[in-house]
Amino acid sequence: MISVTEAKQLVNDHCKKLETIQVDLYNATGLVLAEDIYSQTDSPPFDQSAMDGYAYKFSGANTTKSLQILHEIAAGDAPKNISTINSAVRIFTGAQVPNEFDTVVMQEKVEVIGDQLLIKDPDQKKGMNIRLKGSQIKKGALALKNGTKISPGAAGYLASIGIASVKVISRARVSIISTGNELISPGKDLQPGKVYECNTYSLNAALNEFEIKPQAIHKVVDKQIAIEEAVNNSLKSSDIIILSGGVSVGDHDHVAKALEACGVKCIFHKVKQKPGKPLYFGIKGNTPVFGLPGNPAALLTCFYEYIAPAILKIMGHSNTIDPKLSLSEPFTKKPGLTHFLKGKVNGNSVTILNAQESYIMSSFALADCIVQLDESRSTFEKGELVEVQLLK
Ligand code: AMP
Ligand code: MG
Repeated sequence: MISVTEAKQLVNDHCKKLETIQVDLYNATGLVLAEDIYSQTDSPPFDQSAMDGYAYKFSGANTTKSLQILHEIAAGDAPKNISTINSAVRIFTGAQVPNEFDTVVMQEKVEVIGDQLLIKDPDQKKGMNIRLKGSQIKKGALALKNGTKISPGAAGYLASIGIASVKVISRARVSIISTGNELISPGKDLQPGKVYECNTYSLNAALNEFEIKPQAIHKVVDKQIAIEEAVNNSLKSSDIIILSGGVSVGDHDHVAKALEACGVKCIFHKVKQKPGKPLYFGIKGNTPVFGLPGNPAALLTCFYEYIAPAILKIMGHSNTIDPKLSLSEPFTKKPGLTHFLKGKVNGNSVTILNAQESYIMSSFALADCIVQLDESRSTFEKGELVEVQLLK
């Protein structure tokens, strides 16, 4: 049996970056740029009024005498040629300031009588209330670097400089296969001996956090042939395959054999950890295949600890490590296995929740982090700093 560190390293070693694709910016959320992006335009593209007010040419004198209001320029209007002598234009936020003018006075600081404007502001300065052409970025300048994640801010920024589509690393196509004769979908009546199937729901939700909608969700019985069929189907159109259940060594656990029959190469099977000891990881071509133990809390823990980093890697995201937190209470465990524990963060400290058994989801429903406790150790002091993975 290998350690958690070895297992995580092996997953990392076998996960390769996905291909790049050109996508519409609306569909690029959460993806990683596979190119440097240069601005298509000066931004703003012209000197732009930052206020509703009046544009004029600043000089020491004209802030005291009246100016003639020539016309109005609203956002979107093209400017007209004008005379600058003792004149001004009515202007609104976002409108193009005529080249002849250099200053905008806000409407709260003027008096208007007929077509005459009186500026009532002793603090007027040249250039006031104008967003200068190219002050955000100049045409042709580097806007965002290869490797940047398209956050909402990045999407808005790119659109604002004229970018409609981007080259990005593909979104991972993930297929889920749930195995188990005992499973009934929620919403249906329970039959004797059956339990509600929940793992496809936690996996679907966890994938959604990465902006991924599962490619397919298969629900199959504990028969090797049924699992093989679902795996072969998934291999055709998935970048990652996740199986739930059937990965231990019971008489009805057929996942490892089915995967072997499908040509998946086993990289490891079983990890020195609790929960999730039976975890299986294999690869076919470039497609990683994870066989997760069916116990719901073990399954979701394995997702966060192994599959989440794999998704981040193949989609080109850089890995981040969360800061350590201090234990709010002492904790004891047996040495020999790494423990992953559902926790609740409070400032810089973390409380390990009750009900850590691998079949229990009630604590996971409240958890906002997973605490990782070292394989070799058994006692952990109150206040000791421990590794955590924050959940979104
Ligand atoms: P297994 O890993 O198949 O031996 O399953 C271990 C435990 O997890 C059993 O109690 C199963 O009933 C339960 N289990 C397996 N798959 C699921 C699932 N998709 N939803 C809920 N419970 C499951
Ligand atoms: Mg099973």
